Amino acid sequence: MIRKTKIIATIGPATSSKVMLKKIIGKGVNVCRLNFSHLTHDDAKEIISNIKEINQELHVHTAILADLQGPKIRVGEFKNPINLVKGNEVIFSTKDKKDCIYINYQNFAKDVNAKDKVLLDDGKLALKVVSTNKKDTVVLKVVFGGLLQSRKGVNLPNTPISLPCLTKKDKEDLEFVLSEKIEWIGLSFVRKADDVRILKEIIAKRNLHHKVIAKIEKPEAIKNIDEIIDVTDAIMVARGDLGVEVPPQKVPVYQKMIVNKCIIHARPVVIATQMLESMLESPSATRAEVNDVANSVIDGADAVMLSGETSVGKYPLNTVDTMREIIRDVEASEHNISQNKVIRPLINNSRLLSNAICSHACDIAENTKAKAIITVTYSGFNTIKTSSFRPQAFIYAFTNNHTILNTLSLVWGVQGFYYDRGTTTDQTIRETKEILKQEKHLKKGDLVVNLASMPAQEKGMTNMMKISKVR
Ligand code: PEP
Repeated sequence: MIRKTKIIATIGPATSSKVMLKKIIGKGVNVCRLNFSHLTHDDAKEIISNIKEINQELHVHTAILADLQGPKIRVGEFKNPINLVKGNEVIFSTKDKKDCIYINYQNFAKDVNAKDKVLLDDGKLALKVVSTNKKDTVVLKVVFGGLLQSRKGVNLPNTPISLPCLTKKDKEDLEFVLSEKIEWIGLSFVRKADDVRILKEIIAKRNLHHKVIAKIEKPEAIKNIDEIIDVTDAIMVARGDLGVEVPPQKVPVYQKMIVNKCIIHARPVVIATQMLESMLESPSATRAEVNDVANSVIDGADAVMLSGETSVGKYPLNTVDTMREIIRDVEASEHNISQNKVIRPLINNSRLLSNAICSHACDIAENTKAKAIITVTYSGFNTIKTSSFRPQAFIYAFTNNHTILNTLSLVWGVQGFYYDRGTTTDQTIRETKEILKQEKHLKKGDLVVNLASMPAQEKGMTNMMKISKVR
């Protein structure tokens, strides 16, 4: 039984060997995430080449997501952990000075003001700015103390940060990513639409087609969410940093708001971080974690993501099994998004006609209990649009473009097939149905809805729908 909600697994020491990659992909991972906060280019190259080989060996289309670190602020390295005691003052400096804690954000002293919050180690430790010399040194008071380890992350929830979205390291990583066959690029700490535009312009200037996932993890991104959704290809609700940058109790409502907006605007949306966190150390998940994954599926996310659980966890295979089984059970229940989706008006833009066909194809499939909606796609657009209506029927996408085939692995309800024949619409409809029958997705008598562009040779926008029975 195929799933509609996709699984993303972060690859790290626990899963980077070809044997483990093959196992997790065999168990249902649709997208492998390479986190450039922790990977060298040589490591990444080997993982990418293994995934490409596995795709051929298993006849699957696993996508690769390269996640750029972005302007992650960190403290420096020190020999022993530093004990920060509540009420005491500590000094942070952007210079390597004695008795100061080094911070890698050169404008730190310039950008902060007295009373700004400074959170360390995912918010486990909290400090407040007492004073700044506006040059290189900041005095802070400890609000919540504890042991501070080397290179821990720093979050500044009240400070407008003057760092670009693409750092020097990101630009070097991007050069590597753009030279590889990678489908999705994750852009961290997006604050506004221009952050995404800058990356998309770099990609477009090189005549490349990598798709961008804007990671929502800053309060400014929540404020600018509509303009970000408008320009990006997809969104990730990056709950790790988001839950530090905004009060964590706000994250569940933001998650629902972002998923709803993404579905309305046909932007694939990923829910990330701490989904099955306890499985880093334990072979089974907590009840609360199972509920969290299930609720993300009920919300209608395109994909749910595993981070440390598959990159460094002790039980990566159990974790993928657990996630897959939660998704299957929710999708088989009356609480799946197809039962609960809201009927929405079509947006009147240059794609109105093809959007209308995709929307009505889903309505017709619903009314006739059709088993499949078959799309033929050159850019993936009509398939992603059809998926956004969250139909009951599975969406089978046929394309002669391997990159699009892999890209669609992240998209809700879509299964891709390579197809490069179809010189006429009649031939395409006949053959795509036949392929799905041979592969046992359809049987004689099933109703299917085909979407296509006529005439087939022009490869234009979707302008045709046909409903027919499988013979
Ligand atoms: C997150 O913060 O939730 C996230 C996915 O980003 P990263 O793992 O890059 O910190």
